[in-house]
Amino acid sequence: MYQTLARTSRRYLSKLPDKTSTLAKFNFPLATSTIKSVTENIHEFINHKQKVTLNGHIHRKARIRPTLSFGFLRDCNGEVVQFVANAATNDKVMDTMKKLTVEESVSITGFAQQKQLRKGETESWELALEDIQILNSSNIDAPRLEKLKQARPEDLPPQFRYLQLRTPFYQNALRVRSKIAQLIRKVLVDGHDFVEIETPLLFKSTPEGAREFLVPTRSPNQFYALPQSPQQYKQILMSSGFTKYFQIAKCFRDEDLRSDRQPEFTQVDLEMSFVNSSDQVMRVVEDVVLSIWGKIKQTSMYTLNESGELVETESDANATRLSKLDYLTALQKYGIDKPDLRSKISFESLEDFFVATENNDFPVVEACVLRGAFDPKLQPSKPPKSLTSELNYSRRRPYVFIIKSENDTKTWYEQLVKKGFMRNKGNLSEDNLCRRLSLNPGDILAVSSRSHLPYENPTPLGKFRQLAILEFPGKWQRPIRRGNDLVDSYNSDETVVGTWVVDFPLFNPVEVSEDTNAPYPKYDKSQLESTHHPFTMCKSEDYNLLETAPLKVKGEHYDLVVNGVEVGGGSRRIHDAALQQYIFEEVLHVKNYQQLFGHLLKALSMGCPPHAGLAMGFDRLCAMVVGTSSIKDVIAFPKNQSGSDRVVESPTTVDEKTLNEYFITTIDSCK
Ligand code: ASP
Repeated sequence: MYQTLARTSRRYLSKLPDKTSTLAKFNFPLATSTIKSVTENIHEFINHKQKVTLNGHIHRKARIRPTLSFGFLRDCNGEVVQFVANAATNDKVMDTMKKLTVEESVSITGFAQQKQLRKGETESWELALEDIQILNSSNIDAPRLEKLKQARPEDLPPQFRYLQLRTPFYQNALRVRSKIAQLIRKVLVDGHDFVEIETPLLFKSTPEGAREFLVPTRSPNQFYALPQSPQQYKQILMSSGFTKYFQIAKCFRDEDLRSDRQPEFTQVDLEMSFVNSSDQVMRVVEDVVLSIWGKIKQTSMYTLNESGELVETESDANATRLSKLDYLTALQKYGIDKPDLRSKISFESLEDFFVATENNDFPVVEACVLRGAFDPKLQPSKPPKSLTSELNYSRRRPYVFIIKSENDTKTWYEQLVKKGFMRNKGNLSEDNLCRRLSLNPGDILAVSSRSHLPYENPTPLGKFRQLAILEFPGKWQRPIRRGNDLVDSYNSDETVVGTWVVDFPLFNPVEVSEDTNAPYPKYDKSQLESTHHPFTMCKSEDYNLLETAPLKVKGEHYDLVVNGVEVGGGSRRIHDAALQQYIFEEVLHVKNYQQLFGHLLKALSMGCPPHAGLAMGFDRLCAMVVGTSSIKDVIAFPKNQSGSDRVVESPTTVDEKTLNEYFITTIDSCK
């Protein structure tokens, strides 16, 4: 249907458009007010008969009546006002009213007057028209798309993104984004003396994790690459005498776009030199995120206390305010390195009693109990489908049991032993096991296996936890501590809980699974890759392990996690060129590291000070503040799942002559 629309809207012109009517579109009165500013001072406007000019778009089809006609204007804030013209209004105005089409841009001038209230309406006003000028008409697509625009603007076809963006939701989303950017600049520049520095977008090809976008040049076999992040430039800036750098930076990764990812996205990127602990970076980042939520959302941020309760963050000038959770605990308790801590669902290891036997690399048996998930009187026959559906798990699913009777609290493990999933270690004490899990009728039990140091992230049980949070919203919430009181009932959708995840392993074994859906992933422990990036420093206490057991080394790496979303990640860096060289050469076995990273090694060896930094996903942060699950909602012109921008129809083919200039031969033309 929309292809037809596009075709019908195309017009071919052979002569210069009419001078008078065209130039009239360029000559119009500026707005004196916005709808909002009139509403806020409506009595003054009415009492002083103050003339008002509003500019905007026609929001809805006008209603033309013999005596009184109505039109609707939407202004730059996405607000709508009714304007009226009666038979006594001059003919030119009435003629224009009759011609109005939705979405054209207009300028209206008149006087605010009290509106006759309809049922349910509170005080309201309308504009009695004195003059109206159409500044640009809209083409025939606009009325055809009208129903969609009024019902669900997000369903408007993506090539009409500008019509979507005119609606209040998107107007608000992009305004919030702009406010967040401004606030970040204020906190970093005014509050912490950071310097905003732009780094090049035409960078060089260096592996940093994801696939890069290459940019051809007019020299044979010479390419730039678009940066995946400004990581290397910001480290070079630390060697350039700047002690506090930041940038709201465009980054590019040519990755799988299925999940809510964009090939170009924005990071709040920062780096500080002469810092001797991660805490100094964390502290600055906390200032940024706490002011975003505090000033823009007017909400406080919560974190975990030692008793596992939520507490409001305090503004202590020295300490970091968000709790720290180490990677291994996160994986053991929640099965993921970015747990949603609003939920208290956590796991029990059953290592003392059982060993999983399906795959030797995944011996640890663990369980998750959803207490009181159903009313045992109802005797459901199956657990909720979302918790067991194969579609929701990329690899193996946990075994899920509904505990309907006292008997069920014991029979589940016999079933798992019989199935060959696990074996009894020989020391099984039913009493101890019962005490560990304390199962009761009405509970749902999930059992799965993992490796000792989990590289799967999330683990099957971690995925189960995420699904359970979605399936039972608001259940098993952590209590909020307020002084001596514990508050259990609160709206978890409006509660923001942040934590730092720390002590990540510095390296992971490379995954070599042939089948990405096979129940168990396969790793090659002789090939290592960096968990964060190769520039991350190890924990001092693990230094010697770099030589003997690199997989056991923990990194000075920290992630900021808010409501189960990784909002940012960073690390202390290696500023010693010899150590950096050792990591490339001996641990990661990067053969051509001089060619790829020689520039960085040189900059480090020129007295580069110790430094640390972090980057936050700006689009995700904005989406969370706006309250939407998709980052596309806070990006003016996002790419679709095939990487295309439907407004401008990019990417496109390029003519042969241009390709030749770039020494590019396309496969098609080779045939
Ligand atoms: N450059 C890193 C990233 O994009 C962030 C950092 O370490 O500062 O994830």
